[in-house]
Amino acid sequence: MKQMLWINGENVETEKYRPLYNPFNGEKIAEVAEASNQDVARAIDAAERAASAMAGMEAHKRADILQKVADYIQEDREECARIIAEESSKPLKAARAEVDRTIMTYSFASQEARRIHGETIPLDAAPGGEGRVAYTVKEPLGVIAAITPFNFPMNLVAHKVGPALAAGNTVVLKPASQTPLSAYKIASYFHRAGLPAGALNVVTGSGKSVGDVLVSDDRVKKVTFTGSPAVGKYIRENAGLKRVTLELGSNSALIVDAGTNLKRVMPRIVSGAFSNQGQVCISIQRIYVQDTISEEFITLFIEEARNLKVGNPLDEETDIAAMISENDVTRAKSWIQTAVENGAELALGGDSEQQVLTPTVLLNAKPTDKISCEEVFAPVVHINTFSEFDEAIARVNESQFGLQAGVYTNDLQKAFKASKALHVGGVMINDIPTFRVDHMPYGGVKMSGTGREGIKYAIEEMTELKLVSFKLD
Ligand code: NAP
Repeated sequence: MKQMLWINGENVETEKYRPLYNPFNGEKIAEVAEASNQDVARAIDAAERAASAMAGMEAHKRADILQKVADYIQEDREECARIIAEESSKPLKAARAEVDRTIMTYSFASQEARRIHGETIPLDAAPGGEGRVAYTVKEPLGVIAAITPFNFPMNLVAHKVGPALAAGNTVVLKPASQTPLSAYKIASYFHRAGLPAGALNVVTGSGKSVGDVLVSDDRVKKVTFTGSPAVGKYIRENAGLKRVTLELGSNSALIVDAGTNLKRVMPRIVSGAFSNQGQVCISIQRIYVQDTISEEFITLFIEEARNLKVGNPLDEETDIAAMISENDVTRAKSWIQTAVENGAELALGGDSEQQVLTPTVLLNAKPTDKISCEEVFAPVVHINTFSEFDEAIARVNESQFGLQAGVYTNDLQKAFKASKALHVGGVMINDIPTFRVDHMPYGGVKMSGTGREGIKYAIEEMTELKLVSFKLD
């Protein structure tokens, strides 16, 4: 299969193509276009030309297009799941769940498209403001550059394209190089749904070269990025006065207090640590367990983790498949090894075969070990104990990241305390940090980024507020 660029409502040839391989078995899946700088500029031209058509399109028409896309994905659910499973090695069960969430995300975008509105402003609340009627409107920004990661290739594209188009913007999308096919698939659905040519363009190629053109072009009014903190920082430093939303990584933590029904919550905790091979921005990386229940917790956790089925992502039963690249396996293994050299106990896993790293559990890693203080983004979790609840909160907060945190406790006072004291974008009481539904505000503090997604909240950041005042006399 040859995948061309998608610019101005058509497939566009380019000079260079790059082979795309299935991370699990190394088979070639496609030849994917590598956009030149001129190609990227052409995509921005197309998006700019389409901007007035999109800004002028009625809300109900934008809503209809988004709902049609959700419907087409529903019809092709299985095909979409297989594309995700093949290009990203996400186990089929999880890929189907991602497709279902993508449908929800576009449905929410369709609904939100109908209710983008401002408010009336009582100008006479200030002396000098008498005799006027004023209101605000939310106008689209124009061209938005969307740069997305590999780990949720369909739903994280939806979290940018959905709100951008709902608000009447146009988009140049640069998906991750390992997962371009699901993004091109989405573009074909928008085309079929009647989106004007140029309103959504997809360009693939090296992140640095495509990204630099998008970030430096003055016609691009906003860059919305989901990916690693290092790239996010680089984009922020180079984006000038453009708006920038950054959804970055984390080393998410879970606190488990005494009194928690461990048998009941364990399957959920284990899935939060290992689903998609731990390559989830809110994957559980650090667990702090109250010391009186730590022995039982560790036994149950390891028992549950041993039950995970490692294998081909296309097998129905598989829970854990390949990581996205060989380099990432090597990196994760070296962090595990260093933690062990520094005194951590390897309680499970740590082995790899090709790009599959088995679920790995470490006990008592040092806070300064990379496995603890950096984002591991692999099926690796470490469990530590605490005696006082405040100590656990402090341990969670000592991170440079702050996306979400989870707390299991039956003590209402502790729950309130944690919800106030934890320095993160979202606190999940009696749940894992890995909880997300697609309309909730989602984003981080500290090195986990700036801005919020969740359709309604993303629309706030993808529109400009304009004040209109009528003087009446
Ligand atoms: P990544 O390496 O930062 O890549 C993300 C995207 O940025 C890709 O499309 C990449 O293109 C592109 N890129 C690379 N260098 C660039 C540059 N200099 N300028 C502009 N764009 C550039 O991240 P990843 O490995 O795909 O994804 C994993 C990271 O994403 C983790 O840190 C994870 O926590 C984070 N994440 C965060 C959230 C959230 O909502 N907070 C959600 C999911 C993932 P290439 O693929 O061509 O390099």
